[in-house]
Amino acid sequence: MSVLLLNASYEPLAVIPQRRAMSLMLRERVEPATEEGVTIQGTSGNLTVPSVVRLRCYINVPRRGTRWSRKGVLQRDGYRCIYCGLQVGDRQRGQFLARTDFSVDHIIPCSRGGRNTWTNTACACGVCNNRKADRTPHEAAMPLRWEPKIPRVNYLIVSGQIPAAWKLYLQI
Ligand SMILES: [Zn+2]
Repeated sequence: MSVLLLNASYEPLAVIPQRRAMSLMLRERVEPATEEGVTIQGTSGNLTVPSVVRLRCYINVPRRGTRWSRKGVLQRDGYRCIYCGLQVGDRQRGQFLARTDFSVDHIIPCSRGGRNTWTNTACACGVCNNRKADRTPHEAAMPLRWEPKIPRVNYLIVSGQIPAAWKLYLQI
């Protein structure tokens, strides 16, 4: 069983293993946020691990906002080139690609009115960026490997059966 970890503000932060939740409880870093839970027999008595715990102190979580930035585009695309598909660590012309080999490409070039938006920009390697130059993907015959999207803000991936106690805090 997993435990939903909430910030002090009740905002869901992560899904953590029960053992980790127990350790946080013992260190008084978290408190129960629900009465539902599992009781575990320990050497010094029984301990109930709730299925939702909340941090006693608020932690500031850097959000991946929807405000456009060059770094945000590179992160969204995981430093993978939208044209050739190569990513950090792959070999290109005998060299291993580093993060610094990638830059933001304007799909519709700035010179053609293309803007700094999530859907008009993507990560591209230096070779593809130079090759494409001031052309559209169609003109350059360089199709996009995926459709650039606006990143979602603050998402938590929860799989499997969702305990009822979590639903109060997850917007589902
Ligand atoms: Zn490329």
